[in-house]
Amino acid sequence: MIKRTTIFVLQFSFLLQANAQQSLSKNMRGSNPLKTAGMNFKPTAATNENADSIAVRITKAAGNVYFLDCINGFGGGNVAASVGEDGILLVDDMYSSMSAKIESSLRTISPKPVKIILNTHFHRDHIGGNEAFNTSAVIVGHENIGKRLIQNNNESDPTIALLPKVTFADSLVINFNGEAIQMIHFANSHTDGDAMIYFTKSKVLHLGDMFFFEMFPAVYAEGGGNIKQLVTSLEKIITRIPPDAIIVPGHGKLATMQDLKTYVVMLKETITIIETKIKEGQTLVQVQNEKVLAKYDQLGNGGAQTTAQYTAMLYKLLSTNK
Ligand SMILES: [Zn+2]
Repeated sequence: MIKRTTIFVLQFSFLLQANAQQSLSKNMRGSNPLKTAGMNFKPTAATNENADSIAVRITKAAGNVYFLDCINGFGGGNVAASVGEDGILLVDDMYSSMSAKIESSLRTISPKPVKIILNTHFHRDHIGGNEAFNTSAVIVGHENIGKRLIQNNNESDPTIALLPKVTFADSLVINFNGEAIQMIHFANSHTDGDAMIYFTKSKVLHLGDMFFFEMFPAVYAEGGGNIKQLVTSLEKIITRIPPDAIIVPGHGKLATMQDLKTYVVMLKETITIIETKIKEGQTLVQVQNEKVLAKYDQLGNGGAQTTAQYTAMLYKLLSTNK
């Protein structure tokens, strides 16, 4: 169905679209949380399709921390790995179909076991690997991750294996491989269980899906997300993280703090544009036809949402959240 030579951008949205269909037929009860936001993908699906051709790539981010992402297809969100004397600590672990590939890529840099996994939020493209790693590693995540997973559960769904063993409400510090690793909850941003994770000596920040780099983001109102609070959260993060930190976004390549600032400007500008159109009484179709976000069209080719889909998401979120 999907040509392996297809560029990443297309594979990303097509695979997610496949997930959406599979998920709706097999895994989901109730409403599709993305349908109402006008999006074509579903990260709550249990796994991705066509995983065989997808490879995990591992590169150095900074200090003790490595960056793991997928090539030749979409295998899930980005992973950060702290590697050292204490063993390996991961931030997120992609779809469950990628666990063996994550393990083998880690073996190329260290013989040590994965001891701790920190989850950025509840979406399966970020925590599917918990299922395999949960037997040997301690999984840590915000308390709403468990609540959301149980809420979405049904009898055929092995949600229990995904659940974090250690949960927290506001923040947590883990001392591992010679540095303090901060895990801080930001309420109602991409979901209601988002945590930023900061490696204080290596100066690497994993933002999960609070940051989609070089693409339009998704915000899940049905998962407790809020586009305006996302902006507030990111502004707080910018004030507390050093300007030379390296950022692992939930999706996209490694980024800088300047990239994050540019992203926040884009969010604020697009929110204002769509909010103004709503106040003027324009319909979604009118707003889309007018191509009011044309300035940012390049982000619509980034792989997550097209400009029309992002426009529809903002229109929906801002109409119901005045
Ligand atoms: Zn997500």
